Amino acid sequence: SPSHGGEYDVERNQMVNEVMADAAATASSSGTSALSPQVVAAMRKVERDRFVPGWLSSLAYLNRPLPIGHGQTISQPFIVALMTELMKVKAGDRVLEIGTGSGYQAAILGELAGSVYSIEIIEPLGNEAGERLKTLGYRNVKTRVGDGYYGWPEAAPFDAIMVTAAASHVPPPLLKQLKPGGRMVIPLGTQFMTQSLMLVEKKPDGSVATRQILPVRFVPLTGGH
Ligand code: SAM
Repeated sequence: SPSHGGEYDVERNQMVNEVMADAAATASSSGTSALSPQVVAAMRKVERDRFVPGWLSSLAYLNRPLPIGHGQTISQPFIVALMTELMKVKAGDRVLEIGTGSGYQAAILGELAGSVYSIEIIEPLGNEAGERLKTLGYRNVKTRVGDGYYGWPEAAPFDAIMVTAAASHVPPPLLKQLKPGGRMVIPLGTQFMTQSLMLVEKKPDGSVATRQILPVRFVPLTGGH
């Protein structure tokens, strides 16, 4: 909005510098790559203060998860950047996100992909994020309320899929909706045990390779599946 005068630009750049330092440290310990210029540019552009509750906007550029209501969180910026990097999104890609939450991750993906489909199971969060993304002008991001375990079959197949809540296993419907050659990033594990961020690659021949990236802590993937 015109009243939003970039009051947090300095803080946002500081945050991105911290995220890049975290990514570089993780690259040497976990064999991931440093952040690409495209992911860095998206992180520098998207105004995270627009995606957190008003009373937390002054904390929006801490490199930390923050509460967004309904017992849910907006993820730590470093984790957002790392998961985005692992997806290797190319211009024109069709991307699916499970767990819209605030819509922040969807906006980051929207900066990089051709189209983004994002599903949230908590109706008020999903509706609010959808409105927010519309207001901010993300015409290439579609949201809907539902159980993301089953994916978005009408929009499949996807070049990349990101799950932003911890699941006990890779949901078979999501694997099915991933293109051969596509990548899925998903935290696996329970709420009470260490979870692992996993990179799942569907090879061009349809076989699946899974790699453990990093210990993480996410809210659980809920739903009736
Ligand atoms: N990506 C979000 C963002 O940028 O703000 C943060 C996601 S938060 C860590 C996880 C979200 O996944 C929560 O909003 C939660 O309600 C949602 N969720 C949990 N289970 C789900 C399911 N089965 N389908 C869709 N969303 C789900």
